[in-house]
Amino acid sequence: MKPILAADLGGTLIKLGVVLNGRVLVQKVIPARSDEPLAERLPELEHEWELLAKSIGFMVAACGGIGISFPSIMDPVSGRILTHFGKYVDAPGIDLKEWAWSRFGIPLSIENDARAALIGEWQCGAGRGCDDLVMVTLGTGIGTAAICGGQPFRGAHGQACGVGGHFTLNHDGEICEVCGNIGCAEHEASTAALPRLARREPDFAASALVDEAKLDYAAGDACAIRLRDDALRIWGATAANLVLAYDVSRVIIGGGIAEAPEVVPAIREHIHRHAISPWGKVEVVKSELGDAAALLGCEWIGRHAAGFHAPAAVSC
Ligand SMILES: [Zn+2]
Repeated sequence: MKPILAADLGGTLIKLGVVLNGRVLVQKVIPARSDEPLAERLPELEHEWELLAKSIGFMVAACGGIGISFPSIMDPVSGRILTHFGKYVDAPGIDLKEWAWSRFGIPLSIENDARAALIGEWQCGAGRGCDDLVMVTLGTGIGTAAICGGQPFRGAHGQACGVGGHFTLNHDGEICEVCGNIGCAEHEASTAALPRLARREPDFAASALVDEAKLDYAAGDACAIRLRDDALRIWGATAANLVLAYDVSRVIIGGGIAEAPEVVPAIREHIHRHAISPWGKVEVVKSELGDAAALLGCEWIGRHAAGFHAPAAVSC
């Protein structure tokens, strides 16, 4: 089996690697500089992949394909990036499949980052052995993705389950500055939302949270515990909504917040108590791969590149 070139394009870092049989054979992390045009970064990606492949005795052109994880929504048919969310803003105008074919002569496939992480867990981590599962990644925002019947679920426009963090959890809530919906989970409970939420608490000034360096859900006093418990209910409700929407057997909880020992049990209890499942109990587990999930997921993505259709020859 041929190795796959992988790239996980994040907001602050780009992880590049060569992956084979569920293992990252070699990798390099470079600054994302996601405020710069993606087109200007492509020669650097080409160069780094060539060095990585060469370091383990491969030529890039001999690899089986390219898999890319990207922080946006992709058209499920063409693979074109549909929007940019302020990162790599020129990306919707770039035909990455054509770029890969013209530079390396190999096919490329691209996937939303949350879905790429779930594919990685499904193939190599906490999702193994299950073909109906969702993942909720808790961090600065809330990322969600689903696999249904052994296939990543993309929907008609590429955004199925990808915006689960923007389901309304509070119908009397505020407008979410990210998406424009009302009372989104991400607006009500995420590390990005915490400073705004904490400063509204009457005992915030006396809380350890007042020290910006400690402004997280683990500060430990009454104000912090109240905010944490609110957040646990919101994350539990978000995961329960996904269980009901996608009829899955397993939920994977990822992201830095999931490392806190109370998070996964609280979400598990919420799901078991509130999400109807007469067939049995939904498994609720923590991510096994952490930050490596998306890069590993790129192997499956690259191997399932739909194929590049070279422009038809002009006949005279
Ligand atoms: Zn929103």
